[in-house]
Amino acid sequence: MVPVRARGLTIEGADGRRYLDCLSGAGTLALGHNHPVVLEAIRRVLDSGAPLSVLDLATPVKDAFITELFRTLPPGLAGRARVQFCGPAGTDAVEAALKLVRAATGRTGILAFTGAYHGMTAGALAASGGARDVQVARLPYPQDYRCPFGVGGSRGAELAARWTESLLDDPKSGVPLPAGMILEPVQGEGGVIPAPDAWLRRMRQLTTARSIPLIADEVQTGVGRTGAFWAVDHSGVTPDVMVLSKAIGGSLPLAVIVYRDDLDVWQPGAHAGTFRGNQLAMAAGTATLAHVRENGLAERAADLGSRMLGQLGELADRFACVGEVRGRGLMMGVELVDPDGAGAEPADRHPTPPGQEPRCTPRPAAPELAAAVQRECLQRGLIVELGGRHAAVVRLLPPLTISDEQAAAVLDRLADAVAAVAR
Ligand code: PMP
Repeated sequence: MVPVRARGLTIEGADGRRYLDCLSGAGTLALGHNHPVVLEAIRRVLDSGAPLSVLDLATPVKDAFITELFRTLPPGLAGRARVQFCGPAGTDAVEAALKLVRAATGRTGILAFTGAYHGMTAGALAASGGARDVQVARLPYPQDYRCPFGVGGSRGAELAARWTESLLDDPKSGVPLPAGMILEPVQGEGGVIPAPDAWLRRMRQLTTARSIPLIADEVQTGVGRTGAFWAVDHSGVTPDVMVLSKAIGGSLPLAVIVYRDDLDVWQPGAHAGTFRGNQLAMAAGTATLAHVRENGLAERAADLGSRMLGQLGELADRFACVGEVRGRGLMMGVELVDPDGAGAEPADRHPTPPGQEPRCTPRPAAPELAAAVQRECLQRGLIVELGGRHAAVVRLLPPLTISDEQAAAVLDRLADAVAAVAR
């Protein structure tokens, strides 16, 4: 597929075929392709004669972006937030966040979670799920279907939280007090795994109690995607640092961190970067943030997302190769499994605590089935992404502007694609 034109949910290939784009630039296009308010904002900057690249100088365009961004922040952060432009990619902002908490605490280690994805540069990669790095302690991320403790639900989340607590408090664990904890409120690349709100609050409590800055990576979950403006808003948790990119640039590259003022230990020039001052991205971002806020698109994502998830759940009832359907708002995933396989994957699990019976026994992930579903979707004019540790999760990230009719068409095409590969 060679894309040549796009509008909203629709993208058109050079061969004239039209596709429903549920990848949305990996979650970047909150308003879909080429939304008029975004194009208009970009044109206004171009027509005004404003400089396009300004490094870290203050400009009216940058001021408007920061003002709009700060309007959306969790209340606990809004009144005392600082912003650092990073950029241009999400991974750059992750690096900045890791660097900031190290500078602020004078410590080095980072706590990160299994299945996490934070980017492709060295620090971000080290904090991501597949990496092995001595400076990063890898903690169990709570999940139902492949619960590391084999129990799922609130009990599984409780055990995951206790694991983290005991790692921090047990002198024999060999983990020194870390510089920070980084987490995604919903793991995206990791296979669309929403963290329970209660677990997030536990992470907030245990980091606060030990003076460990909590970094929320909202690169993918931000700007209404999960049904709240920021995914941490669901739980009421106020992170110390928020990592933001993707949708905040309204389809152009932009990345920032927002953090509590007392962490602001940086001297001028301590964190530099040539592409931090992209005025077009800021104008597109301001228009996007304002449009999402003014039109209640986060609420719309919550409502439509729960209806779509309900309908996707019917797939799991109909087809044995659908293992689990999960998500939050318009961030949804369908995990494909081997319909004939049995049992959990012992290698993926932490030991089941004594006296506990594992009751969460998912069938083995089926990446080849997921890839086949993705191909069948493409043939039916639907673009979806794969994710998860085993690349067996079909992910849907439609724009927040998707209509009910379009959502129905997406679900029909996906159901047809699953039916085509189901054995
Ligand atoms: N953090 C999260 C949660 C992400 O989903 C991504 C990208 N998928 C990144 C960081 C990295 O962003 P980028 O690809 O722009 O570097």
